[in-house]
Amino acid sequence: MPSEFELIARHFQRPARSADLGVGDDAALVRVSAGNQLVVSTDMLVEGTHFLAGADPRQLGWKTIAVSVSDLAAMAAQPRWATLAISLPDDDDAWLAAFADGVFACCASFDVELVGGDTTRGPRNLCATLFGEVPAGQAVTRAGARPGDDIWISGQPGRAALALTDLLGGQGLAAACRQDFVEALHGPRPRLALGIALRGLASAMLDVSDGLLGDLAHILERSQVGARLFDRLLPLQALIEGGVGEEHARRALLGGGDDYELLFCAAPSLRGRISGLAEAVCTPLHRVGTVLAEAGRLELEVGDGACRPLAPIGFRHFTGERDDY
Ligand code: ADP
Ligand code: MG
Repeated sequence: MPSEFELIARHFQRPARSADLGVGDDAALVRVSAGNQLVVSTDMLVEGTHFLAGADPRQLGWKTIAVSVSDLAAMAAQPRWATLAISLPDDDDAWLAAFADGVFACCASFDVELVGGDTTRGPRNLCATLFGEVPAGQAVTRAGARPGDDIWISGQPGRAALALTDLLGGQGLAAACRQDFVEALHGPRPRLALGIALRGLASAMLDVSDGLLGDLAHILERSQVGARLFDRLLPLQALIEGGVGEEHARRALLGGGDDYELLFCAAPSLRGRISGLAEAVCTPLHRVGTVLAEAGRLELEVGDGACRPLAPIGFRHFTGERDDY
């Protein structure tokens, strides 16, 4: 049976690239470029909470890195280095090889170097910390939304939640869309190019991991503003084509988690530039709402111009509440 050190050397040690010292010592050594701030984010994936027992190890490796790349994208930062803390019930070599393959595939996609970590026995638990850089003062936080700003969302939120319901045996998806939706759940593509391109344009931004409304509520709270979404602007069509009814599609879009799309606010005068940017980074963008002055107000404008209040649905870990889609 290989020791923990042999496992690390076989699966996680690669020659250092940009780091001065990578895997193999007590700590890694890296250099932050002059004029930049270091941006740090940690995310943990726990079996039974974030993924199902028996999940594909390569996809898990990808997702372990991808979810933190998404956090850095939401800060408009460039990821540079990662550490990986994992707890595993056994030393299954094939599982580790596939998992490491997914980790390194995602690292390669986003130019991230794995520089360290920790490996221990225990319940399956996967935790990556990403270190990135952003020119000082240019990070986009959740706190800068101003009344009158537009609210934008990237891509197609809702697919991951519908895929999960399908996999758990609930409402089934249309065959033509199923693959695409399941791919969104297992292999999220963080919107890094978009996040970086929004430096200097977005007033506030975050990535949607726990549901659009629940995450929008964080921007509202940090920015002390409210929001009105326009039902006619919500990108429901692709979800409806997935084989669910309109109301079901709306719930998945507004409340479904695990999408890793970017939600951001920007002045209306920037609409043209933002639409151009969507083409430049090959990412569809949907303008779905407007920021209101009244702190905490959250409403949906429906067909006839009437507004109805929206509850911030989404996933809440400690109450265990999860809306079903
Ligand atoms: P220490 O006992 O000093 O904490 P470890 O035995 O935990 O060192 O780790 C040895 C080396 O392997 C360190 O450089 C550590 O960062 C790295 N490492 C351990 N686990 C992982 C992992 N899962 N991925 C990448 N590097 C790892
Ligand atoms: Mg040590």
